[in-house]
Amino acid sequence: MSQKSHCRFCGETLHKTCVDLGMSPLCESYISADQWNQMEPFYPLHVYVCDKCFLVQLDEYVNPEDIFTEYAYFSSFSDDWLKHSKKYVEKMVDMFSLDQKNLVVEVASNDGYLLQYFLEKDIPVLGIEPAKNVAKIAEEKGVTTLVKFFGEETATELVDQDKKADLLLGNNVLAQVPDINDFVKGMKSLLNSQGVITMEFPHIMCLIEENQFDTIYHEHFSYFSFYSIEKIFSAHGLLLFDVEEIPTHGGSLRIYACHKSDDSKSINRRVKDLRKKESLAGVDGLDYYIRFQENVIETKRKLLDFLISAKRNGKSIVGYGAPGKGNTLLNYCGIRTDFIDYTVDRNPYKQGKYLPGTRIPIYDPAMINDTKPDYVFILPWNFKDEIINQLANIREWGGKFVVPIPEVTII
Ligand SMILES: [Zn+2]
Repeated sequence: MSQKSHCRFCGETLHKTCVDLGMSPLCESYISADQWNQMEPFYPLHVYVCDKCFLVQLDEYVNPEDIFTEYAYFSSFSDDWLKHSKKYVEKMVDMFSLDQKNLVVEVASNDGYLLQYFLEKDIPVLGIEPAKNVAKIAEEKGVTTLVKFFGEETATELVDQDKKADLLLGNNVLAQVPDINDFVKGMKSLLNSQGVITMEFPHIMCLIEENQFDTIYHEHFSYFSFYSIEKIFSAHGLLLFDVEEIPTHGGSLRIYACHKSDDSKSINRRVKDLRKKESLAGVDGLDYYIRFQENVIETKRKLLDFLISAKRNGKSIVGYGAPGKGNTLLNYCGIRTDFIDYTVDRNPYKQGKYLPGTRIPIYDPAMINDTKPDYVFILPWNFKDEIINQLANIREWGGKFVVPIPEVTII
């Protein structure tokens, strides 16, 4: 690399590569028709692993304010994700006996997809969301939303207004935080004395073992193991007292944290078990991360083998979905309209636009029934069961599904 970068947690110089995916555009920068003749900025998608704390991370190439203040991702567009959120709310209310006297705060609350379920139970909520367009939709649902980035400054502001969280949660936000120390410090400040923090994020063990390299993108600055997150939380006076391995996003962790000084919580056995599982896999050593690159290259070769032979046999292939992960995959593998005619997405914000870099057009899902393709290539493979169900009718014309990760599979 041309300049030395430093670990965003411990400050050590970064010089070990976990995986290098070459140059890629920002994966949420969908191209509209009037931008067609313009260039697109590409940034290195080069992931390092810190050889001191083993935090896997990307450099911050772009200002988060450029990425997250007008965001195209609306959580409510996935039925599975809504179901997952509703179940989570029921579990938390039950586990921690939450009621009208408590306050639930969600960081990166998006369009209120989750907090709405606490509201239904008359539990006070506060969302914190930097993207104005997304926060507006939350407000329309009755979810009070502060349009801000979260960190120590925002936390202090809330504490000054006598707001402290009994449940403080953040799903799929930790990875997107450039200054992880400031963020975790802010959570510590905002947490009530016996409050609980829960956070969900993709587990690096699943990413590496299932070849989920397409979940790497510029908007995701960090990739956590239980080992690394426990170190980070501990450095800020927070104790992880429980953890669950959950299937979302190809395999995630849900961690439960409290103040180190809070003796009302007991440490669940799952904490010890996961530490042991990670240690056996080698998560606390460099080799585990360095081996990843070869697997990624092989996954790309296998996928291209399939696509080339399908096209040589005259088959038509279209995409389903326009998620960030799809853009990493397509750009890294060099898959454009030479392989995939178009893709579709339920999100109207994306329809009529083009995927960044590959410029594959995005249409309404109805297009699939009109063109009857031989293959539907599922880009958000983490929702593959839901999508295969929704599109069961492609079987009528002999259509099949392609799932690219962990390696190309035809269903
Ligand atoms: Zn480090």
